[in-house]
Amino acid sequence: MVKVNEHYLKLKAGYLFPEIGRRVKAYSESHPDIKVIRLGIGDVTRPLVPAVIEAFHQGVDDMANGETFHGYGPEQGYEWLAKVVIDKAYKPLGVELKASEVFISDGSKCDTSNILDIFGLDNRVAICDPVYPVYNDTNVMLGRTGEVDARGYYSGLVYLPCVAENNFTPAFPEEPVDLIYLCYPNNPTGTVASREQLQGWVDYALANDAVILFDAAYEAFITEPDIPHSIYEIPGARKCAIEFRSFSKTAGFTGVRCGLTVIPEELTAKTASGERIKLNALWNRRQTTKFNGVSFPVQKAAAAVYSDEGWAQVQGVIDYYMENARIIREGLGQAGITCFGGVSAPYIWLKTPQGMASWDFFDKLLNECHVVGTPGSGFGPSGEGYFRLSAFGGRENVQEAVKRICGKWGK
Ligand SMILES: *Cc1c(COP(=O)(O)O)cnc(C)c1O
Repeated sequence: MVKVNEHYLKLKAGYLFPEIGRRVKAYSESHPDIKVIRLGIGDVTRPLVPAVIEAFHQGVDDMANGETFHGYGPEQGYEWLAKVVIDKAYKPLGVELKASEVFISDGSKCDTSNILDIFGLDNRVAICDPVYPVYNDTNVMLGRTGEVDARGYYSGLVYLPCVAENNFTPAFPEEPVDLIYLCYPNNPTGTVASREQLQGWVDYALANDAVILFDAAYEAFITEPDIPHSIYEIPGARKCAIEFRSFSKTAGFTGVRCGLTVIPEELTAKTASGERIKLNALWNRRQTTKFNGVSFPVQKAAAAVYSDEGWAQVQGVIDYYMENARIIREGLGQAGITCFGGVSAPYIWLKTPQGMASWDFFDKLLNECHVVGTPGSGFGPSGEGYFRLSAFGGRENVQEAVKRICGKWGK
């Protein structure tokens, strides 16, 4: 008799975005002439930049010619792409990596999920709250947790609340943990971690023989000069951290699919008998067995992101989004709404006015301003009373949304 993986049944139904979609659809159907502005989902809206498109086309043309055709590539990605990333994205930070430490993939969602394959089920896992839901749900799917409680916490995971009261800086866990997910700049709060804060986590991990899973999907949006772009800028991190990066938000690759995972050679974890095993070797084994690499044209396109021309164009798009973020942050601030983030991340995390619940504010914003955002409670219990607006929209929509919100709440 075939059985299902019952751990999946513990998951709350994919609630957040379907529920947003349902409410927006219902509103639009009953108000057909009102233009609803969507600042909800975390997807980009600007097209790929010309240098990337050109390289992408060239990659496709290469596939049309017997001389330049490419079949299966290395599962770890082409070394030329790894080298471009190392030279252009890591060297300027003072971070030295070897090509064998960089694994090209089809994105960070998969990598942050799949990485759990190489860790024992009995590891204790800490995640921030609120959080990118993938970290939580993939642990539930694997069977690392019990059921969800009334607050929304799964037994067996250690949750680290990130709220205005602690400056969105999680305290170290009260009980020892083995795996710690950190995402900076953060989705959903748009906040960043300082060098000192990251050093604190690296020291914690080294002292507790723990591994940090560092999601740097938004590093390209950092505008403050002192904020680290990579966990490997922190002394000791090569011994305790895995870093995930993505071309998705950096260069508009959400529909193209390319990311990378860095696992330094020094990073090890123990077997039950106490032998130390290189995580780089395990991930290599995992990827070569379960993954067949990213398509050649996509890797060509990804390399073009870091050409001089490509990077200037990509930076222009990032600046465009960050100007949106400034418009939202300052506009809402003038309307008396308390905002966090949005300086070195494309998300503004606002405190709902008058202590409204996240979903109540969602309905009010939809009904009275015709603007769609994301209720903070959808990212975890500590997101209740907060709300996320994305800066990934078009400029006119962003300006119009801010005008509507200020018209409602402005003094
Ligand atoms: C968007 C995002 C990613 C990137 O996912 P891809 O699979 O590379 O598109 C990773 N982490 C976080 C927190 C994100 O918001």
